[in-house]
Amino acid sequence: MAFVITDTCVKDSLCVEVCPADCIHPKQDEPDFKAARQMYVDPEGCIDCGACVPVCTSDSIYALEDLPEDKKEFIETNAAHFKI
Ligand code: SF4
Ligand code: SF4
Repeated sequence: MAFVITDTCVKDSLCVEVCPADCIHPKQDEPDFKAARQMYVDPEGCIDCGACVPVCTSDSIYALEDLPEDKKEFIETNAAHFKI
């Protein structure tokens, strides 16, 4: 299981700062940050701690089981960011 970021993300990087697993990208100093439409969780790295959820002011982060039906596409969108 992994947490999932959805399209209401405003890229303020608050979640990046609290993630103990360093699995939310792109970071502000990474080359693809500017072009990214939103932040993404690496499903391979997420440890399901939930620390990112309360800091997100736009309520864009969901545990997999809480993801609304109309946001399910973001499971793949998040994973795809980390595929080469
Ligand atoms: S805290 Fe929320 S709005 Fe901010 S970058 Fe993370 S997911 Fe996006
Ligand atoms: S649940 Fe924890 S490990 Fe997963 S993205 Fe959020 S802060 Fe990082």
